[in-house]
Amino acid sequence: MKTDVVVVGAGPAGLTAARAISSRGFNVVILEKERRLGVKPCGEAVSKKTIDTAAVAPSKDFIVQEITRASVYAPDGRNISIEDESGAGYILNKTLFLQHLAEKAAEAGAHIYMNQAAVDVTRGDNMIQVETKGGEWQAPLLLGADGFSSVVSRRLDFEKAGARALIPCLQYVMVNCNLDDSHTTSFYLGRNVAPFGYVWVFPTGRRKVNVGIGVRGSPAKPYLDRFIKEHPPLFSKAEIIGVEAAPVTISGILERIVDDNVMLVGEAAGQVIPFTGGGIHSSITAGTMAGETAVKALEEENLSRSRLRTYAERYNEHWGKRIRDSLKALHVIERLNDDDLNALVDILEPQDIINLANGSDITAVARKFLRHPLFGLKIAKALLTT
Ligand SMILES: Cc1cc2nc3c(=O)[nH]c(=O)nc-3n(C[C@H](O)[C@H](O)[C@H](O)COP(=O)(O)OP(=O)(O)OC[C@H]3O[C@@H](n4cnc5c(N)ncnc54)[C@H](O)[C@@H]3O)c2cc1C
Repeated sequence: MKTDVVVVGAGPAGLTAARAISSRGFNVVILEKERRLGVKPCGEAVSKKTIDTAAVAPSKDFIVQEITRASVYAPDGRNISIEDESGAGYILNKTLFLQHLAEKAAEAGAHIYMNQAAVDVTRGDNMIQVETKGGEWQAPLLLGADGFSSVVSRRLDFEKAGARALIPCLQYVMVNCNLDDSHTTSFYLGRNVAPFGYVWVFPTGRRKVNVGIGVRGSPAKPYLDRFIKEHPPLFSKAEIIGVEAAPVTISGILERIVDDNVMLVGEAAGQVIPFTGGGIHSSITAGTMAGETAVKALEEENLSRSRLRTYAERYNEHWGKRIRDSLKALHVIERLNDDDLNALVDILEPQDIINLANGSDITAVARKFLRHPLFGLKIAKALLTT
């Protein structure tokens, strides 16, 4: 079967790119391995800007909770509260959000095939072949939007086995929780809480939460169970109604994300903010930019690597730097012990936390650390080194 563009993966990146390309009259086929959208677990927290970037109107159809504040807890229990716009956002029902994006893509003309895992990807003469259990698709342009274990990336040698750093995550959906404020997202740090990661509590309703953990070098379940046990006001009457696990890419953007006739988009390309593991906004942005470049390249009938590179260059301008800086901040914070993390509460302002986590302005934070006797060398130098 032949088409103009095959998109592997119906996540935020693939659906956004497919919509952008099909809206300009090209034939787009999306192949999704699962039987329904949004099977992969997710904390479902996004900034308000994410919805704008997705070019959809905010709607109760897929937003389950409005967030007005984010609280970051140090190991000693003190917290920094981010109460301005930077802490605000939404908790989505991600399945419904993806259904909404799929509807937009379908309205634009894209065809979506569920339960069609790409099992092999090969290069032909100026086209790519994608094999599924249902048959074989051929197209002059392939978008690999198939997430952290991208078949497209591996089969077409974009990455070497084991080169991608992943943080394993475990999440419970819990009901009958006793939340002080169901419009605040909470993040808990500490070696005894979540080694080399953090615990998140995201309210999805008045008494319902996604509570999850990302850890490295230790099993996640004992830490998450202990966290729940140690927070009785919140969880003593709560029940777990969902257990989900998946990893997140935290090694930054792959060195190469385009080649002749192929683009990697979203988490497949490593386009996730490493410090937070947040990848919905960065993937939707990538989908939009990849889609726009694809349209121009298809119109010009030039699907060479050098033409498609415009997408990678454009993405790099802002998001590439953010992802690199966030990775740098992650490596620095990983080296801190609990005493250091406790001390940070006295040093950092809410905006500093945002700058560090999102990689938005780590130089400003580094300058602040430079003046500090304990952290001057330990942190500032590492943040300022390129
Ligand atoms: C536990 C957890 C919590 C998270 N919480 C948040 C959060 O709160 N906020 C946030 O912004 N980010 C969060 N993330 C990260 C976020 O989920 C991803 O970075 C984001 O969804 C990436 O979008 P994507 O479209 O690139 O890839 P994905 O969303 O991973 O979509 C890839 C799609 O491709 C499909 N696929 C895979 N292989 C194949 C194949 N061979 N053939 C066909 N289809 C295939 C998959 O089924 C999937 O539908 C979380 C991740 C995890 C694991």
